[in-house]
Amino acid sequence: MSPVSGARAVSAPRVYLDNNATTQVAPEVLEEMLPFLKEKFGNPSSAYSFGGNLQKDLERARERTASLFNCHPTEIVFTSCGTESDNFAIRGLVDAYPEKTHVITTKVEHPAVKNQVSYLKKKGLRVTEIGVDRRGNLDLAELKAAIDNETLLVSCMMANNETGVIFPLREICGIAKEHGVFVHTDAVQAIGKLPLDMAELPVDLLAFSGHKFHAPKGVGGLFVRRGLKIRPFLIGGHQERSRRGGTENLASIVGMGKAAELALARLPEEESRVRALRDKLERGILSGIAHSEVNGDPVRRVPNTTNIGIHFIEGEALLLALDKHGICASTGSACASGSLQPSHVLRAMGIPFTCIHGSLRFSLSTYTTDAEVDYVLETLPGIVNRLRELSPFRSLQEIEAFGE
Ligand code: PLP
Repeated sequence: MSPVSGARAVSAPRVYLDNNATTQVAPEVLEEMLPFLKEKFGNPSSAYSFGGNLQKDLERARERTASLFNCHPTEIVFTSCGTESDNFAIRGLVDAYPEKTHVITTKVEHPAVKNQVSYLKKKGLRVTEIGVDRRGNLDLAELKAAIDNETLLVSCMMANNETGVIFPLREICGIAKEHGVFVHTDAVQAIGKLPLDMAELPVDLLAFSGHKFHAPKGVGGLFVRRGLKIRPFLIGGHQERSRRGGTENLASIVGMGKAAELALARLPEEESRVRALRDKLERGILSGIAHSEVNGDPVRRVPNTTNIGIHFIEGEALLLALDKHGICASTGSACASGSLQPSHVLRAMGIPFTCIHGSLRFSLSTYTTDAEVDYVLETLPGIVNRLRELSPFRSLQEIEAFGE
């Protein structure tokens, strides 16, 4: 039996369950992009029609992207990736309001936010990082207490990339707006997974990235609410209404426009079929593997993600073994400078060390099939049993803690 879905390339893994890392380009997206990589190679800023006519393709992509957020097309600024969008949002606002010197963020942000804020902290900005509880939920009382007269911005992600936990942006906006504080959200992991309506959600800035929703890598965007004062991050030409210099990556922008259209159309499927597959995978793992548990709020989560802590095992070894079976997933510890660095997200949640190192993130997509989930459920328990026999974490004390 081959659980591989028909749309995959020949060299693709048997089962790709790492869609929070990146996604495959949708065939419909690729098809729309190709003319812009071939005959329609002009520069949309050119005065002659061969280039200038491409403006309308650029603006069509902007309209399609804006539809995903129910915002005005002029509120979308195209960028090169989610990281640039997050950097632009934070730095652009901090530079535009030098009289405000305090930014609030959370302990579980992606490095695109975390490291930008750390950089600004070194430059003199005051930063407060709000903590999360054991399920990854934000402490709103802590947020409320942190706001003062110098606070410019609250930057809080919409959904966490590791656990899928959804943050209460509406409440956060309510608290921030009461004090005249701006809100930026990193929505990179929310696109195509949650409905987004900028007419309903009063965030000022929202970052997204094409390659997380079946557009290619190297394109992203920032929603900038109309009228907001923000300094450009990339300073150069007049592109993007002088908000982001640089010749537009038109082929990818067109692709992201199509991907946005697909993401909107596929939201109901994400909510039903993808969620059901995720739940089946999760239930199967929890019932088939002793000492395993879900990391993160089991309810307030995007439908495609599960992060499962498998105690007494080493995640990197687990990933390598899964890789041998053609399964792609992620772990809560990453190899950096020769040592295993436990995830800052799982650490902030207070997950025990032995569980962080054995945590696995599976992230599904519209291309995930039932047969693929069955294959993982058939394969994973055997791998875990073999590795546990060898695990240094499986000390007598730890086993006793579970009453074996
Ligand atoms: N923010 C979040 C929550 C992410 O998951 C990622 C990528 O993993 C990024 C930002 C960065 O996006 P990009 O890879 O497009 O720079």
